[in-house]
Amino acid sequence: MDPMSTMIPHPEAAGSAALAERAARVIPGGVNSPVRAYGSVGGTPRFLVSGRGATVTDVDGNEYVDLVASWGPALLGHAHPAVVEAVQEAAARGLGFGASVPQEAELAEEIIARVPLIERLRLVSTGTEATMTAIRIARGATNRPLIIKFAGHYHGHSDGLLAEAGSGLATLAMPGSAGVTAETAGQTLVLPYNDLAALEAAFAEHGERIAAVISEAAAANMGVLPPMPGFTEAMIELAHRHGALVILDEVLTGFRAGPSGYWGIEQERVSAGVAPDLLTFGKVVGGGLPLAALGGRAELMELLAPLGPVYQAGTLSGNPLAVAAGLTTLRHADATAYERLGHAADTIIDAIGSAFTEAGVVHRVQRAGTLFSVLFGDYPEAPRGYVEMQRQNVAAHRAFFHSMLESGVNLPPSAFEAWFVTAAHDDAALARITDALPRAARAAAAAA
Ligand code: PLP
Repeated sequence: MDPMSTMIPHPEAAGSAALAERAARVIPGGVNSPVRAYGSVGGTPRFLVSGRGATVTDVDGNEYVDLVASWGPALLGHAHPAVVEAVQEAAARGLGFGASVPQEAELAEEIIARVPLIERLRLVSTGTEATMTAIRIARGATNRPLIIKFAGHYHGHSDGLLAEAGSGLATLAMPGSAGVTAETAGQTLVLPYNDLAALEAAFAEHGERIAAVISEAAAANMGVLPPMPGFTEAMIELAHRHGALVILDEVLTGFRAGPSGYWGIEQERVSAGVAPDLLTFGKVVGGGLPLAALGGRAELMELLAPLGPVYQAGTLSGNPLAVAAGLTTLRHADATAYERLGHAADTIIDAIGSAFTEAGVVHRVQRAGTLFSVLFGDYPEAPRGYVEMQRQNVAAHRAFFHSMLESGVNLPPSAFEAWFVTAAHDDAALARITDALPRAARAAAAAA
């Protein structure tokens, strides 16, 4: 195929550029979430006007095969007809009442059916709220102040969880955030991931003051970095031995890495009886609308008001449109959908291997179920933590990103984010991606 024939028609993106300028006059940085600003890749952030299946279209009329999938939620592809219909039906009945609606319990049941260790589940609106509330429960249950998190893990933007966080902070190389008091930051111990000795040392020193360890089920906000074999099990056992809880954050991995999230993959490998205490979800569970959740054993979850002393609430919690989108998404996320997601990941990973090897780009593909990301750099051994993940050649990624964009493939605009496939990535969409890879790999080689 003539490589030029696959290029987008309006690479200059004049419409997006004008909108970016306009937005920057009224919105800080022109964006409502930092990574969207293309800070680490440069160039004009694309303003998107529609999405259908595996593709999105920008304001200039360029169509891209999408590997962002709304940063995860669009598991079935954009504007899945059943999801759109469910939301339209819900909207026609009313946008929200601030009262319980019948489908909330159905969504909770659907999630519990996939992760049976959850006995009670509460719906919130964002992943940030889910992890923030899980931590409040852990502190309420243990009456202890300290939290352990791992470097490079991202759990949303609540004050106590921003230290050495991944996602946008990794992209912008920010060690944490201004505006967090020293007292709050001091209640979070940040440890290297996959380092059991560091965890043991922290528990030996502070054991009686640690309320919980929070960990992404598989890290995916510094690039994809699954736990080393045995790490999650050892982490849970160690925490429990010291009377601390374990919060497994599945906001990104939940019902995406696999049908029961990454814990569904991990639990096959751990000894009977070893399990996290609380799990958090977001993204896929809201099917593209603002909805997230946290769940766990009844005795812990029932510490929440109105039953218990731990307060949490939300005007929009359990919003009927969001519940309809999440419920319909999960109900359509069947074995066939996960097969398609797995096939899409396999196909792209194979093509990356061939294109990068051919062009001489040193790289490593990291994978956790259907989630994967590409490390631009020389990694003869599997990386274990944030320090190694940060060693990436960002210039090579930048050149690669822009070549893919010009060829009509929308990648996450950061070397530190996962690639998100959808069940709508059919053969045509996959071919568009695999056809674009050789040119992009050559661009990466030239930049590296
Ligand atoms: N936890 C994880 C693992 C995430 O990936 C994210 C967002 O990317 C969050 C929490 C925060 O979710 P939200 O952006 O909905 O607040």
